[in-house]
Amino acid sequence: MNEIKTTRFHFVELAENVYAAIAPAEGLDITDAGLMDNFSNAGLVLRGGGLVCDTCFDLPHAKELLAFSEEKLGHAPQTVVNTHGHWDHYWGNQVFTGARIIGHRDMSKDCAGDKNKVPVFKLLHGSRFVQNLLSRLMGGQFKGFIPEGKPFQMVVKQTEHDFDLTGVIPTPPTEWIDGKTVLDCGGTSVEVIPVGAVHSSSDTVIWLPKEKVLFAGDIFADCSLPMNLDAARRWLKVLDYILDELQPAFIVPGHGEVYDPVRAESQRSYFRALIDRFEQSYTDTITEQELLKKVDLSDFVDHRPRLAWIMAVKTMLKEKRKAK
Ligand SMILES: [Zn+2]
Repeated sequence: MNEIKTTRFHFVELAENVYAAIAPAEGLDITDAGLMDNFSNAGLVLRGGGLVCDTCFDLPHAKELLAFSEEKLGHAPQTVVNTHGHWDHYWGNQVFTGARIIGHRDMSKDCAGDKNKVPVFKLLHGSRFVQNLLSRLMGGQFKGFIPEGKPFQMVVKQTEHDFDLTGVIPTPPTEWIDGKTVLDCGGTSVEVIPVGAVHSSSDTVIWLPKEKVLFAGDIFADCSLPMNLDAARRWLKVLDYILDELQPAFIVPGHGEVYDPVRAESQRSYFRALIDRFEQSYTDTITEQELLKKVDLSDFVDHRPRLAWIMAVKTMLKEKRKAK
């Protein structure tokens, strides 16, 4: 596969002029939660008018996507599609001036109030004091799961490729869709497929049926975690739809490297195991520590950070207790 490295991305050509824009992702570990240094990816269809799928977190990343696209297309891409309304996937939208920006209508729920998040994230990202404070607070929550002698750290590693939220004005889509929408990119069919509220208030995948490439947003990402048991069940159905019906050759996840079908299958096994073990182990009187011990998904630790399943179980338990 043709790969081109730039300052902040490596662009992997999955089909002619169809690229995964992969930002380096740090593996999340229980002792290093990697607060905000887990960069997000984008996808590019650089044919016809050009289409960008997600625009990353900050303007330097978004500008690099734009520059790469302009070089290949000879002009700025005319369409942006957002997979969901989380900051790390759409805050670069403002760089694509003049493009139509498309997203599912319910995504607006997650974008609301994002203006206020910019200064908060700047503080979290820029202040060692705040990071150390958070590490101490969260370290307490994960007691018993932290290997001995390794303190829980929630610290941003400052690198030259780091985030810079200067100038970000969260810019939601300008065109809302309610269902599956087919776009044309220089004769290439691009299907925008909403899959419901799974990881966020509204998730959408972008599918190139001929090229068998899927831009999946956070439906695929090693660190993704379901908020509750129902969301986990819905998520598993979406994985069934993607893997059994669409059958992609390549999946570009919201974070991390491109998935091949084998890696994708491991994500499905993980979700099945998470749901099955949670359902089998849960009782109204079980404590969180007992449940975590019973559900134990450390057999997936090769593909999935320990923190992901621990947080998933904790969150799902909290939601279940709340619903009672
Ligand atoms: Zn994300």
